[in-house]
Amino acid sequence: MRAVRLTGPGKLELMDIPVPEPGPGEVRIAVGATGACHSDLHILDAPAGIYPVPMTLGHEIAGTVDRPGDGVTAWQPGDRAAIYGIQGCGHCRGCLTGRENQCREVPVGGIGLSRDGGLAEYVVVPASRLLPTGDLELTQAAPLTDAGLTPYHAVELARPALRPGTFCVVIGIGGLGHMAVQILAATTAVTIIAVDTSDAALELAKRVGAHHTVRSDADAADRIRGLVGDPPDGADVVLDFVGVDATTRLGRTVVATGGHLLLVGLGGGQLTLKPTAEEPPPVPLEVTARIPFWGTRAELREVIALARQGRVHTEVETFPLEEAVRAYERLRAGGIRGRAVIVP
Ligand SMILES: [Zn+2]
Ligand SMILES: [Zn+2]
Repeated sequence: MRAVRLTGPGKLELMDIPVPEPGPGEVRIAVGATGACHSDLHILDAPAGIYPVPMTLGHEIAGTVDRPGDGVTAWQPGDRAAIYGIQGCGHCRGCLTGRENQCREVPVGGIGLSRDGGLAEYVVVPASRLLPTGDLELTQAAPLTDAGLTPYHAVELARPALRPGTFCVVIGIGGLGHMAVQILAATTAVTIIAVDTSDAALELAKRVGAHHTVRSDADAADRIRGLVGDPPDGADVVLDFVGVDATTRLGRTVVATGGHLLLVGLGGGQLTLKPTAEEPPPVPLEVTARIPFWGTRAELREVIALARQGRVHTEVETFPLEEAVRAYERLRAGGIRGRAVIVP
């Protein structure tokens, strides 16, 4: 079968490999769609020794059950499923409470992270990773497992603060951000302010439910302040899907006293808690800062429910498996609107 594999730092290759066989408790999935994630670029850029090689990339997968392994009774050939990408140890404190995204044994264990992923015609996964998707298109189901789940989890963490009449600022309207806007619109009564550097992204944000859009430039903080009011008032929640210095700075500039900063994007930016001569202003008093990571299986079930009810819809650009490398180049250059999804 064809598979797109990480073969070394920065090296992604389309190659022919044997179709994998499911072991006991595993299921072989005929891949229907796999989303291309920014994290894949971090995996590509990582130094040697962090990720196994060769390894098939892709952790945002949906497909059809092809062959259940021994002992698997809940899944039959032809069943459609989304794959929960995290594979925790199953016995640590995080895993036991259903928070495999907080696993203390294998913090980045998962499909397409520590074992072969979905950029291939087939993938073998533990049966426990499968969630039914009903009649959802597989190109819609795949992005839910990360581009949908990660913002859903962030919204869940901030949910007590997302009261009717408050403001939520969403920074970065890419694959995750455009889902965040829809999840907020579908499950809260907050006023959504979308921020991005691209007019096309802001148009998309408006179309999927943002109440206000703000172009990310030198005046962005002032324009957001015009909407949310002056300190100590401000946005109760800021969801930062970019995470570079400019966006962490914007977040702490517009968040309310007692508000919540959630840094989802892995842009490498720093969040300065105390002001310095170069880096005013400080994070306001009583603010909670969090670094959400992916989400739980229970949350994925809820995201799938939202999609099946038609309340969230991923803006998708599809690429054949042969063009996966080009899709990642476009993603790196910021040229994807919504999510790039690769179809074998
Ligand atoms: Zn991802
Ligand atoms: Zn664990």
